[in-house]
Amino acid sequence: MHVFVLKGDFAKLDSALPLLFELGAQGLEEKPGEVWAYFPERVQLPLAGDWRELPEENWLESWKRGLKPVAAGPFVVLAPWHDWSGTERRIILEPGMAFGTGHHETTKMALEALASEDLSGKRLLDLGSGSGILAIAAAKLGAIALGVDIDPNAVSAARDNARHNRVNLEFRQGSLEAADPPYDLLVANLYAELHAQLAPDYARSLAPGGRALITGILAEREETAAQAMQRAGFRQVGRRQQGEWVLLGYEK
Ligand code: SAM
Repeated sequence: MHVFVLKGDFAKLDSALPLLFELGAQGLEEKPGEVWAYFPERVQLPLAGDWRELPEENWLESWKRGLKPVAAGPFVVLAPWHDWSGTERRIILEPGMAFGTGHHETTKMALEALASEDLSGKRLLDLGSGSGILAIAAAKLGAIALGVDIDPNAVSAARDNARHNRVNLEFRQGSLEAADPPYDLLVANLYAELHAQLAPDYARSLAPGGRALITGILAEREETAAQAMQRAGFRQVGRRQQGEWVLLGYEK
């Protein structure tokens, strides 16, 4: 198995991840300080990184075997083959198809933050929905949710995941332009610079009094996102941190 190793993490390498899939990567794995992209053969890549060879084994199977259920707020995130007897609300996801297995701190914080909102009957936009995990959780909490993602593979994985979870919600390919504002709540797990760029669009996408939960923010870049949100007319109403990752809550 050929592995292309990039320095960074999913959030930092966000814009490169769809390209890796387009160029033939069969899966991505986040390791401390690195992202490993698994390829059936070596290809020319317009990205900085190093090739490594792993002994031939079914890496996907062994990675899947190692995945543990994740508890976050009232939820437990399970792979289809996990047995679970707890009373938590289950989110069942086929791992490996798109970002969002619940193992990342940012996803966990977003699940917890969503669970502390009153979502019943509220219109929610999940921007950068990945596996669909946050929109699925929101739908389970009573929201009328739409997920949008620029990556077509993520959109089809999210639709499959929604079906498996028996929740009725929509996923569309695209970004904010693919949504139908106004929303009561926006959740976005992207990265600080992109939040800063999109802050005025977040304001336009929300109804008066609408709330935004933004994460994917490294603590050292928090100010970039926070200042842009303030300039766009948002008032900060919440903050969570796990390790080096931050989630910020805002009201318009
Ligand atoms: N929401 C999931 C979660 O919290 O685990 C996945 C988050 S993942 C870090 C970010 C996702 O945003 C990726 O699936 C990526 O394709 C998507 N994305 C990146 N830039 C975007 C943009 N400008 N508009 C919409 N989606 C975007």
